[in-house]
Amino acid sequence: MLKTHVLGTSVHGAPIHVYELVKPAPVIMILAGIHGDEPQSAYVGDCVVELLRTAVGNMMDEHLVVVPHLNPDGLVKKTRQNGHGVDLNRNFPSANWKQLPPDDPYFGGPMAGSEPETQLVLDLFRRYQPRRILTIHCIDQQRYCVNYDGPAENLARIMARENNYPVNADIGHPTPGSLGTWAGYERKIPTITLELPADQPEESCWQDNRDAILNFIQAEL
Ligand SMILES: [Zn+2]
Repeated sequence: MLKTHVLGTSVHGAPIHVYELVKPAPVIMILAGIHGDEPQSAYVGDCVVELLRTAVGNMMDEHLVVVPHLNPDGLVKKTRQNGHGVDLNRNFPSANWKQLPPDDPYFGGPMAGSEPETQLVLDLFRRYQPRRILTIHCIDQQRYCVNYDGPAENLARIMARENNYPVNADIGHPTPGSLGTWAGYERKIPTITLELPADQPEESCWQDNRDAILNFIQAEL
């Protein structure tokens, strides 16, 4: 059965929900809706939650923790950043976290881990010590891909069998303070960043990725 609770609140006080399918197994974590101007990401996150409510979820042996809307303030305002104007995927306390001016679109906060939404994710990591992570984003200009950090190349390839996206270890630009760098590259937790095509409707993003995400969840590695 799927359990829900409020993990905490955003900068502007919106609740951030976590959904958990409890099974006697190491945790698999899925995070979406991190950038508020990537609606396909939050939509696919919601679809994962709905799938877990069905017979498919009932039959799973995997322990899942899903946060479909990590950045509710950004999703309401359709901004990449959170309510403080911070890019949450540049706010994780990786060794390469970088101080940028507040008006930079990739502003990673006044200090690493400064944002309440980031702190909620860090708390989840401490509590669950996930065995692998899927983080869902969108990207433009036909650059959709299954990106991986840490020991996750096989996992990325297993997903790509279903969505036929390119697999890559490098998104093509530096991402200091990203979840992939902090969790995957530095802590060696297999981390997939699924980059959905920003020009595709939400429904087709889900149709094209449902089985890839099931492969991610159920891969025996
Ligand atoms: Zn993104």
